[in-house]
Amino acid sequence: MNKGMLVVLSAPSGCGKDTVYTELCKIRNDIVKSVSATTRTKRDGEVEGVNYYYLSKDEFEYLIKNNGLIEYTSYNNCYYGTPISNVTNAVNEGKICFLIIEVEGAQNIMKLFPDDCVSIFLLPPSFEVLEKRLRGRDSDNEDVIQGRLKIAKDELTYKDKYDYNVINDKLDACVDEINQIISAELSKRNA
Ligand code: 5GP
Repeated sequence: MNKGMLVVLSAPSGCGKDTVYTELCKIRNDIVKSVSATTRTKRDGEVEGVNYYYLSKDEFEYLIKNNGLIEYTSYNNCYYGTPISNVTNAVNEGKICFLIIEVEGAQNIMKLFPDDCVSIFLLPPSFEVLEKRLRGRDSDNEDVIQGRLKIAKDELTYKDKYDYNVINDKLDACVDEINQIISAELSKRNA
């Protein structure tokens, strides 16, 4: 059995991490996603257990107290966290498990799994493009957008802590680049 691998994928909100993952699933059948828990409200089109497990604050804090999360953070006044079982199952079963998480959580995963983790930071072509993309989402109000833009500026300062930086300008090219990174890392690990 191949060794399992964690792929930590981070990017400022609006850079298209989820779209990139969806496109990758169309060309690879060996990847799974760690479904996070969150206290934020569900956006239109999102599905419980697919995009997130949507929890109340009390439910989330119960998970924290009972060591159910391998990492968690507070982002834009909501909790987000990775259930422990997602990650341990994937590594033990030899799967490639994507953790699509923000920068602080990503640093924690890199420290916890230095040998089993590949980290990728997705960059927008420019900050102006990122702002335009965020404003294109109908579901978020101005306060949320301003909050996300401020966080995005801070997050961009973390890019050098990742193994790879990939610019998401043209989606196909970006997906292709990440696909090649995964294949190269897999061959390295299973040589
Ligand atoms: P969104 O509300 O746009 O779905 O997510 C907001 C941010 O939280 C994104 O950067 C997303 O990657 C991050 N995020 C989602 N799940 C987790 C998680 O389990 N842990 C951490 N640390 N960040 C997460």
